[in-house]
Amino acid sequence: MKVERHFADDTQRELFALVEEIADKELAPRADVEERSGRFPRETVELLGRAGLIGLPFPERWGGGDQPYTVYLQVLERLAYRWFAVAESVHLQVLASHGLARFGDDDQRDRWLPELLSGEVLGANALSEAEAGSDLEGIRTTAVREGDGYRISGTKSWVSHGGVAGLYNVYCRTGTAGLGSLTCLMVDAHTPGVLPQPPEHKMAVATLPTAQVVLDDVRVPAGMRLGRENRGMLVAASVFDHGRLGIAACAVGLAQAALDHATEYAKGRIQFGAPVITFQGVGFLLADMATQVAASRALLLEAARLRDAGRPFATQAAQAKLFATDTAMRVTTDAVQVLGGHGYVQDHPVERWMREAKLLQIIEGTNQIQRAAIARAL
Ligand SMILES: Cc1cc2nc3c(=O)[nH]c(=O)nc-3n(C[C@H](O)[C@H](O)[C@H](O)COP(=O)(O)OP(=O)(O)OC[C@H]3O[C@@H](n4cnc5c(N)ncnc54)[C@H](O)[C@@H]3O)c2cc1C
Repeated sequence: MKVERHFADDTQRELFALVEEIADKELAPRADVEERSGRFPRETVELLGRAGLIGLPFPERWGGGDQPYTVYLQVLERLAYRWFAVAESVHLQVLASHGLARFGDDDQRDRWLPELLSGEVLGANALSEAEAGSDLEGIRTTAVREGDGYRISGTKSWVSHGGVAGLYNVYCRTGTAGLGSLTCLMVDAHTPGVLPQPPEHKMAVATLPTAQVVLDDVRVPAGMRLGRENRGMLVAASVFDHGRLGIAACAVGLAQAALDHATEYAKGRIQFGAPVITFQGVGFLLADMATQVAASRALLLEAARLRDAGRPFATQAAQAKLFATDTAMRVTTDAVQVLGGHGYVQDHPVERWMREAKLLQIIEGTNQIQRAAIARAL
């Protein structure tokens, strides 16, 4: 079933058609092979940057496309439909640029944004630590004032783009305990003392490196601070809200891919003399999958419309992230079921999509944390 999309004008329609072409030609044929090799496809992320896809939701002044989130998120969905890890990389790049675009000053934006948006420099957000997962009060990395700068010491965990990033947004403790004493500092990866560790061995998304980053007495000038000292949580909260939209978009793309693959398979697979889709047990499963994917997209785009209209959207973003990622997990798992034994082996991509979907329920705030945020809002 074709996805009906609504764009405001021909420019947006043409942009989406171009994205479909790039995703079909550059991403789809390579995803399986590259995910088995585990090599980070830097050149592909740079290609998407040059095509203007990373910069889509940012101002033209820094090389952006000035597009609303409703458009950017549908583009991200389409990339994830063809190769999740690359879409996730674009999403990370947008998030690493978001804090700078929103909280940075013009000097900082002029210096870093054009390179981030073109994909020339990769960015990363480093919040998590061994003792700070869902609970950021556990952050122990310190930034101590020294002259007109800071000295950073600590170890960040789970940094996506860790080891390939040229710029890290590092959340550090600049006061006594509490979320009110965190500060976001941009750290150039070439600074002495920035020591990325070997990548983690993950269940999936092998092409996107995730690594610990040790910060051993790293000196950064005060001009690399994003926003005010001890107000890092303002930056983090805004990054999280936008991050939840991006993750939801990736989830919709992954779920749509699994739905389409399972539907085509069920039409062609003959058992008991009939295509298996004609058996109610399979047909109803696919009907539920299709409905959940459509509902996820609708929830996501509603949250994005609020964001684009300048209205509060944090709760709607949490709902979209929760619903779309739980849907992606369910739909990819059910897709394996529709394919039977053929779904369990690597001849089809559905088992990989199922492993990839699991990540989405964990990152950008676990789905338990989304439920807690929604409950608080209620
Ligand atoms: C592949 C990958 C990439 C990542 N990339 C990044 C990155 O780029 N930057 C970054 O900073 N971090 C990143 N992370 C870290 C990620 O954000 C954390 O894993 C996530 O926030 C959860 O933290 P935790 O793993 O320590 O789990 P914990 O916080 O220890 O949680 C364990 C369990 O308890 C539950 N739980 C915790 N608190 C509550 C509560 N109050 N109520 C109900 N349930 C609760 C959780 O939902 C979970 O099920 C990444 C993680 C992975 C796996």
